[in-house]
This record gives sequence, C-alpha cells and structure tokens, in this order.
Amino acid sequence: MRKAVFLDRDGVINHGGQINRPHEVHLIPGAAEAIERLKAAGYSVVVVTNQGGLGESFDGRVLWRRPPLSRDDLEAIHEELLRQLGPAAQPDLIKFCPHATYLNCPCRKPKPGMLKSAAKELDLEMASSYIVGDRSSDLEAGLAAGVRPILVLTGDGQKTLDEWSGPVTAVPSILEAADLILGDR
Ligand SMILES: [Mg+2]
Ligand SMILES: [Zn+2]
Repeated sequence: MRKAVFLDRDGVINHGGQINRPHEVHLIPGAAEAIERLKAAGYSVVVVTNQGGLGESFDGRVLWRRPPLSRDDLEAIHEELLRQLGPAAQPDLIKFCPHATYLNCPCRKPKPGMLKSAAKELDLEMASSYIVGDRSSDLEAGLAAGVRPILVLTGDGQKTLDEWSGPVTAVPSILEAADLILGDR
C-alpha cells in the first residue's frame, strides 16, 4: 500500500474563484515544487475536486439548461493545469465530482467518496495519508476518510480558519504543507 496526499484543486494548487475556462488557471506559487517533492518522496498525489458546475445526474445526464461548465471545458482546464505543473509534478490521479449539488451524492466533499474510490484504485493507506485543502469541506472529507487534514491559508483558507471550531493544522500554502508532511516521516 502507498501513502497519499490528497489535494483540493481551487485555492490550493491554483488560485480559486469560478474556474470554468482554461485561461482562468493560474498556479499558486510553490504548487509545482510541492507536488514534485511529495512524489519524489513516494507519495501518491491525488487531486479531489467538486465540480458541481457540470450539473450531472447519477446517470450522466446534464440536469441544467445552461451548466457553467462542460466535460470538454473541464478536460481543457485539467490539461492546462497539468501543462503549468510540468512533467515532474503530475498528479497520479484527478478525481472530480460532476454531480448537481442538490443530489447529495456520496462523492461530493465533505463526503469522503472520492478519497475512498481513489484509495481502492491506487491501493492507498489512509492512516499515513493527508488531505490539503482550503475549505472545511476538504478537512471534513479527510477526517471522514481517515486521513490527516492540513488547512492552507491560500484561497478561502483564512476564512475557514476563522470559522473552524476544532483544532486544525494550518500552514501558509501548499509548499509549507509539503514541508510539514515530509518533515513528519
Ligand atoms: Mg478549494
Ligand atoms: Zn458526486
């Protein structure tokens, strides 16, 4: 079994906001270096991102008349993300939840479905794994999946820190999250 670092996408790897087109992808400084170092240290790196803008039903139908995001858009966004990250910092897997938000699906964070299915696919050991995120839904999905959550203060992280009631490990950005994880070994 391998240990993993699950990464939220928007506000962690790239600057957040509504990302519906490839030109809206702008890396957070240090993101490529962080992923490269985690991979070099033997961690599987798995991106887990809610993409409710696709507005899909469980059988893959688009439920909205004008969804802000299409499957083609999302593919182009991820191609651009991978291009900017560069060859040494390619995530092992990108998981996304395509479902309309009101469906209450088991994959949309704060539910742990994406982490659990990635764990099955890649044979991951949750007890020695982490999730790095900027929202409480990331931290909650991690806790529900049995991985250790780390909050970054990029994206919505500062707001999340202000609102989070329990103890939480917070770091300035993904680069310091990598430092923390690699220092833990
Ligand atoms: Mg986020
Ligand atoms: Zn889903």
